[in-house]
Amino acid sequence: MTPLTLFARRFVAGERPQDAVRAGQQLQAKGIKATFDKLGEDVNDAAAAGRATEAAKELLRLIPAGLERNVSIKMSSMGQRISRDLCLANVSSVLDLAKEVSGFVRLDMEGSALTQDTLEIFHELRKRHDNVGIVLQASLHRTADDVREAVRRGDRVRLCKGAYKEPPQIALQDMAKIRQAFKACAHLLLDGAPRPAIASHDEELIGDTIAYTKEHGILPSSFEFQMLFGLRKSRWESLVAEGYTVRIYVPFGTHWIPYFYRRLRERRENVLFVLRNLFR
Ligand SMILES: Cc1cc2nc3c(=O)[nH]c(=O)nc-3n(C[C@H](O)[C@H](O)[C@H](O)COP(=O)(O)OP(=O)(O)OC[C@H]3O[C@@H](n4cnc5c(N)ncnc54)[C@H](O)[C@@H]3O)c2cc1C
Repeated sequence: MTPLTLFARRFVAGERPQDAVRAGQQLQAKGIKATFDKLGEDVNDAAAAGRATEAAKELLRLIPAGLERNVSIKMSSMGQRISRDLCLANVSSVLDLAKEVSGFVRLDMEGSALTQDTLEIFHELRKRHDNVGIVLQASLHRTADDVREAVRRGDRVRLCKGAYKEPPQIALQDMAKIRQAFKACAHLLLDGAPRPAIASHDEELIGDTIAYTKEHGILPSSFEFQMLFGLRKSRWESLVAEGYTVRIYVPFGTHWIPYFYRRLRERRENVLFVLRNLFR
């Protein structure tokens, strides 16, 4: 556990679930939706995985009526690295609780060592649950095939570039190629998958989604944009004003360091923000 520093506060809503819920209410007042994430990943003992599972359920119970009960989880925090059966049991119990409260659970995608396993567990969960969605990372070479499979299965997908450093055998390295792959995957999802989520702050990709959906008569109500807490706030509001659905990923908790460093690695502007505050 690490107390939330001033720098991390830009990207993390607070330490307690109540902080995240308050952020969600503030977003809702502006017509913006939220998905809540209790930070934590890579747990190696069953007791800790059990605690993460209970925390996700507590969060679902705590989100008040009137706010969508939409949470994002990392399966590595619920025992994925220990055993598939343990992870399946834990995540299933979260989905059962989510169903009771009309909630939705998104399985975040982690590093490529877990991609295949994550998809297999997701497909297993989908046999019994319809309130669960997956994330696919456009930068991975495999993802175009995974997107086609998701469309065939009718899965709910969040498409992002991919936040983990991967080798060239696994993932594209060049941003122009990643953008090209993202657009191709997004078009497939927008054409054929239920309520895809286009998760990016990249204006080229947001603009491409708007142009593609207009050109193909795809209604704004049939997909959503997603962005991260603390990044491009004014764009959230302008998209809502243009009639689009926007959902913000609202992380909270004390295990914020890996999440924070992924944000710093992504963008020079985020590092500059931290440095400016360091020397203020
Ligand atoms: C809701 C959500 C959920 C995610 N879930 C996952 C997940 O489960 N697994 C995973 O691996 N990754 C996830 N990610 C992270 C994602 O994979 C990327 O690492 C992250 O979004 C950075 O890529 P980007 O496309 O947003 O833009 P970047 O590649 O960071 O930036 C590209 C361009 O976007 C524009 N831009 C970006 N930020 C700004 C800004 N603040 N102001 C102005 N312009 C800006 C600039 O033109 C910039 O050059 C998620 C991202 C989001 C938004």
